[in-house]
Amino acid sequence: MLASLPWGGFSIITQLHTGHVALHDYLKCFSHAESPFCLRCQAHETPEHFLVFCTCFTHKHLQLWHDILHTV
Ligand SMILES: [Zn+2]
Repeated sequence: MLASLPWGGFSIITQLHTGHVALHDYLKCFSHAESPFCLRCQAHETPEHFLVFCTCFTHKHLQLWHDILHTV
């Protein structure tokens, strides 16, 4: 599955996996964001939050899990 991704997609997955991604929790460590919190729901904006818990992306989460379960 990863081999079929374009370079940009592979790069984003790597960033999310390592936590070195342009989300507020990481950006705050380098003073590139004013707070570590998600602008949409005020939880810590970590990769886990972005990929699983942020209620603003519920439809995207469901689509992602659907795609994962139907390609494996
Ligand atoms: Zn959120």
